[in-house]
Amino acid sequence: MTSVDPIPFHRADIGDAEVQAVCDVLRSGWLTMGPKTLEFESEFAKYVGSPFAVSVSSCTAALHLSLEAIGLKPGDEVILPTTTFTSTAEVVTYLGARPVLADISPRTMNIDVVDVERRITSRTRAIIPVHLAGLPCELDEINELANMHGIRVIEDAAHAIPAAYKGRSIGSVSEITAFSFYATKTLTTGEGGMVTTANEKLAQRMRMMRLHGIARDAWKRYKLDGNWFYSVEAAGFKYNLTDLQAALGIVQLARCESMRQARRIIAKKYEEAFRQIPNLQVPLEIDDRIHAWHLYILRIDPDCGVRREDLIAGLKSRGIGTSVHFIPLHLHPYYQQAWGYRPGDFPIAEAEYKNCLSLPLYPAMSEGDIQRVIEAIATIVRSGSGAEMKNERSILVG
Ligand SMILES: *Cc1c(COP(=O)(O)O)cnc(C)c1O
Repeated sequence: MTSVDPIPFHRADIGDAEVQAVCDVLRSGWLTMGPKTLEFESEFAKYVGSPFAVSVSSCTAALHLSLEAIGLKPGDEVILPTTTFTSTAEVVTYLGARPVLADISPRTMNIDVVDVERRITSRTRAIIPVHLAGLPCELDEINELANMHGIRVIEDAAHAIPAAYKGRSIGSVSEITAFSFYATKTLTTGEGGMVTTANEKLAQRMRMMRLHGIARDAWKRYKLDGNWFYSVEAAGFKYNLTDLQAALGIVQLARCESMRQARRIIAKKYEEAFRQIPNLQVPLEIDDRIHAWHLYILRIDPDCGVRREDLIAGLKSRGIGTSVHFIPLHLHPYYQQAWGYRPGDFPIAEAEYKNCLSLPLYPAMSEGDIQRVIEAIATIVRSGSGAEMKNERSILVG
């Protein structure tokens, strides 16, 4: 019977230790931000090798607070890839600034540094590179370019825990890094996020702004040894993490490298199999980088006779879930209407988008699941390309 069980696109890896940790917080009587949140922040900072880690309610909040902390103003510009989730760009608009989209490299599907350089103007304040699927971007080149022009770098590392660039953990390379602990991400707290930075002033500003702009540890005012007095210094936000989430995060953080290993083993099995099938392009791993393997993005040759849609539909009919990362921002109505982007503006991102799909990739996949995904793809691609060859022959004959 197992062979007909559905294989969902994603399943969170939550074990007994996570359940126990959350129950302990429930029984402790302190549910929101508190000791567990502080412990998670300090464990996370240690793990990525960054002096400061500020926990927040999402990566979207992390990116927003980062841009607020660097003083982004209306009329400013921020450069980011069109191949990303809308979060990366919408936060720029929260502060009245302009999201300036850039194309991607066809090799890595990450932001194309040459295109970034072309789009720098006197109004550019920041670059937000996105480590798509968990493969770190060209961070040396991006930071060098940013330094030359006096621009800040904020990494969108929503896919990149744990990951590393030239021996340095993501979270310790650029001035600011934003992480996501959303339900489908590699380390989850259901919803949640983290900002890491070595800049103490930025960390302090983000700590204050994540909890209503109240100076110093606002959450402590309800503790027995806390102080009832509080002082509002700015119109802040309600962006804090909770102890319930942090307890989950502490356990997940301790397991995140072993979960990455499990995903990498699956990725390597996929790679070995898909290399035998013509017209498929497997994702890249680069020697001096550690890939988080959040996503397995497979690309299919557009001229091979099997469309990405056929592959998705064929897999779906066999009970296998897939997804697409991402519909480029410039193809969405909002970015066209508000910022004037048009189809055709970013030809590489568009071409890769049309040919890509993301396959199931999570530790709970059994060997049977992995083989079913591989065999389904082999069958669909071979019969699809074969069907087209037959058509061509009949055209020739007919
Ligand atoms: C998931 C995601 C985000 C947003 O993360 P949240 O924690 O849900 O706010 C931002 N950027 C990218 C690239 C993402 O995939």
